[in-house]
Amino acid sequence: MGSAGTTPGQCPACDGADFRLLFTASDRLYQTTSKRFHVVECTQCRLMQLAPQPTPADLESYYPKHYWFTPEKSAVGRLQNMYRRLVLLDHVRFVDRALRESQESGPVLDVGCGGGLFLRMLRDRWFHGIGLDYSTDAARAAWTSNNAPAAVGRLSQAPLPSGSCAAVTMFHVLEHLYSPRSYLLAAHDLLRPDGRLILQVPNAGCWQFLLLGSAWNGVDVPRHLYDFRPADLDLLLDSCGFEVLRRKYFSLRDNPAGLATSLAPSFEPVARRVRQDKEGPMTRLAKDLFYGVLVVAALPFTVIEAACQAGSTIMIEARKKT
Ligand SMILES: [Zn+2]
Repeated sequence: MGSAGTTPGQCPACDGADFRLLFTASDRLYQTTSKRFHVVECTQCRLMQLAPQPTPADLESYYPKHYWFTPEKSAVGRLQNMYRRLVLLDHVRFVDRALRESQESGPVLDVGCGGGLFLRMLRDRWFHGIGLDYSTDAARAAWTSNNAPAAVGRLSQAPLPSGSCAAVTMFHVLEHLYSPRSYLLAAHDLLRPDGRLILQVPNAGCWQFLLLGSAWNGVDVPRHLYDFRPADLDLLLDSCGFEVLRRKYFSLRDNPAGLATSLAPSFEPVARRVRQDKEGPMTRLAKDLFYGVLVVAALPFTVIEAACQAGSTIMIEARKKT
């Protein structure tokens, strides 16, 4: 393909200039725009990306307000909060193990910290964490809801000296960036010599993408500017000076709920709130219950998929190459 404005100029991974159209899609989940977008693949290295890349102002309008989670004080809100803590344990344990094995001291910098629940759970394990988020509202929520210190800005502006962090964590960040490479290089600079980079992104090499195509929620058009397969990440990390130590393809928070959302996006609780769907308390409860049942039903498939290294997310531990 090649019509002006629909293809990127150059592949950021291999500098290739030839792209193949994979599919066309709109904002299926939050319906922030009716525009349609192409997802293309580099014919040389197969890295997938959104085309054309939205301007920063357009991209901002595709992020609904309160994109992250802030707990409500109701009984349902408390239950949701308990659920969020339970399913986030996976992430906390992954980082806990990386920190114990590296034995570096210094803070954990959580990039894209949202409401700060992860930082709070790290603190419960005696790890000192600092949040960074592009959104002022998110950083404020991290301070007020979870008592977690958080700054606003890009990673290159992080208020920390070079070589000071025991770990830099980026959960579902890289796929949202114009330049994933610049963030990886900034993380490399911030890390202590044996510090650890922990990343998590949707895995475009998963079975769900093969089966569902553009309906797979991991492509999340138009918020995801890149869609990575494991080989893309290996190449990118290697070129930014990292070696991969560990990969995990299952996330209790993301994989089953991701499949449920792919199959029934109109039932996803955050999306319903963001879209301001009009629903009475009984309808709301019924939809929440239906979605919950779907998440549980999705569990066996997502566990098998992950066991075959084709889970719908990938979490990676990496360290600086020596
Ligand atoms: Zn390429």
